[in-house]
Amino acid sequence: MFREKFDLSGRAAVVTGGGRGIGLACAQALAEAGARVVIAEIDEAVAGEGKAALAKAGHSVDSVRLDVTDPDAVRAAADALNTRFGAIDILVNNAGIARSGTAAEEVADEHWLNVLDVNLNGTFWCARSFGAAMLARRRGAVVNIGSMSGYIVNKPQKQSFYNASKAAVHHLTRSLAAEWADRGVRVNAVAPTYIDTPLTRFGMEDPELYRIWLDMTPMRRVGRPDEIASVVLFLASDAASLMTGSIVLADGGYCCW
Ligand code: NDP
Repeated sequence: MFREKFDLSGRAAVVTGGGRGIGLACAQALAEAGARVVIAEIDEAVAGEGKAALAKAGHSVDSVRLDVTDPDAVRAAADALNTRFGAIDILVNNAGIARSGTAAEEVADEHWLNVLDVNLNGTFWCARSFGAAMLARRRGAVVNIGSMSGYIVNKPQKQSFYNASKAAVHHLTRSLAAEWADRGVRVNAVAPTYIDTPLTRFGMEDPELYRIWLDMTPMRRVGRPDEIASVVLFLASDAASLMTGSIVLADGGYCCW
């Protein structure tokens, strides 16, 4: 009874920014559970590398080029993929950027707008377009990748723009969940701690900064992409059938202190 709840056979899933890092691990997790997976990536070369890595692990996934900041392109991709696969049952809003390390008083307009555009607007455009088709079928699951930065202010790097964008993703998650809960579409989020991906390389390669990160984490380590993908798989599956509007911390205990 319980194992079947994680079975995604017959479902189709889209993972934005799925060519590398956390998104790639999510694509693998969903594919292993039986879903047909599409990587929606801004950079076709990154998508190609991700697909090759998954092929080595025995999974054949599709990819489309998609810039999540372009609402028309998102709408067109949602239409095309829903037609091609019959239905997209699962959307993982993973594409995100950080651009950490700029004090608030020095942030340029372009910097602020760019981070909000990818992290918040992109999440909304995708949820709106893929969600509309899910609502029409009265079935679907959206999983947004938030961050512990939506709860706490990271130390010591300055990143007001990123923290604000992720807090907004969390409340967008709850807002969509409330609007869609009685129409068969669940919306949840995962809030990770520092995960070993290209996005955090700047900190992991700086011994002093990395020491502070570990000192502030009860588990005294950063996470791996697969540790986030496991939570995404759970939230996307029927195992989480009663969950909507949840922001699930996967933070090694960071927010306990
Ligand atoms: P990566 O930088 O490794 O991967 C992000 C992916 O998103 C890249 O493949 C990137 O493409 C793609 N992307 C960026 N902009 C767009 C866009 N406009 N349209 C489509 N795809 C795009 O990051 P992570 O795997 O670390 O992060 C994934 C998510 O997890 C992000 O939302 C991030 O904020 C969140 N997160 C990460 C944490 C961490 O410590 N790593 C902690 C908490 C949350 P390209 O290669 O071309 O840049």
